[in-house]
Amino acid sequence: MLDFDQAQTLLANAAAPLARREHVGLDEAPGRVLAADLAATVDIPPADNSAMDGYALRLADWRPGARLPVQQRCYAGDTPQPLKPGHVVRLFTGSLIPDGADVVVMQEDTHEADEQVEITREPRPGQHIRRRGEDTLAGAPLLAAGTPLHAAHVALLASQGLASVPVYGRLRVGILTTGDELVAPGGPREPAQIYNSNGPMLAALVRGMGAEPALVLHARDTEDDLRGAFKALLAECDLVLSVGGVSVGERDLVKPALAALGGELSLWKVRMKPGKPVALAMIGDKPVVSLPGNPVSAYAVFAMLVSPLVRRMQGRAELFPPVSRLPLRTEHPRQDSREEFLRVQRRAADDGNAELVPYGHQGSGVISSLPWSTGLARLPAGVQVQDGDRVPYYDLRHWLA
Ligand code: AMP
Ligand code: MG
Repeated sequence: MLDFDQAQTLLANAAAPLARREHVGLDEAPGRVLAADLAATVDIPPADNSAMDGYALRLADWRPGARLPVQQRCYAGDTPQPLKPGHVVRLFTGSLIPDGADVVVMQEDTHEADEQVEITREPRPGQHIRRRGEDTLAGAPLLAAGTPLHAAHVALLASQGLASVPVYGRLRVGILTTGDELVAPGGPREPAQIYNSNGPMLAALVRGMGAEPALVLHARDTEDDLRGAFKALLAECDLVLSVGGVSVGERDLVKPALAALGGELSLWKVRMKPGKPVALAMIGDKPVVSLPGNPVSAYAVFAMLVSPLVRRMQGRAELFPPVSRLPLRTEHPRQDSREEFLRVQRRAADDGNAELVPYGHQGSGVISSLPWSTGLARLPAGVQVQDGDRVPYYDLRHWLA
């Protein structure tokens, strides 16, 4: 048996980041991972400009009660003339500051009449001017390789005039569900059958992380069928996830099927609940991760153990999202010989602080607990956890992203 942390680290490092790279336009960038360090090439802002609607002048020209002639109206996008002594330039947010001006006064502190303006409040030196390069200087680091891109990064890239970015190829994930009892949703079901929920669930989890569920197959519980399916998946995909058939039952044939393909099984049982049977095999340079069949276990194992490997192969720099510590509400003390991951909801207590409430039925087949949960609370092995104890909280918004 392996400890959870060991298993997590082992799996996270089971494969290298994808070698495939491509350039995508900014429209396609959200959800992709930056593949190169980028430096700024232009100063932002590129020139001194006004932070206000108002007037630019020389501070030295200001006197209480003085009326200064308006030399020019300069709109955002216009190029102003140099400021003549004793004059002001009317300008607007984003207008360039004319040469010679050293302050901007906002229009609320002025009276304009007959092309002359009176400034009613003494300006502070340099006020309301956004300086060239105060945001970003040309040559400064802009974004680091491994950054997952979203709207904020798109804004930064666009501000530099970039229309496309280098990103890692989209990770292609193959999914194999197993079991003679399973039928696909949408079709008829015999009394002894259940619908295949893991297939669609894993495809959605993969897609939710910005990877592509490139091929989703189902195999019957025969070594032949499993071997054929694994072959097809390995031919198409960078990473293969199988689910079910990896325990010690007579029909648990995933292990022999992988061995027959030359898979070297580098990991077997993980001391965690739910989800004990987890296996990693390398076939060539491609990892195959075998997850437990119970949908809840598969979901938890994907979040806790598989998602760091997916991030790594996607090229992301952050493999392990943050874990916080929050008080657990529990009606009875809890203790288990394995690390236990409870499905919990993060809520605001009466005092406004966050606390964790466990789902009532923690059975590993209880699919209804999944949409209810916001995250997983980690209870240490062999330690009694009491009501109000702080425990590590894995927020699934982060761990499944
Ligand atoms: P196994 O590890 O194959 O013995 O599966 C453990 C449990 O999970 C059994 O009750 C299976 O019926 C169930 N199970 C396995 N695969 C799936 C699936 N794709 N969808 C729903 N339930 C599954
Ligand atoms: Mg099975």
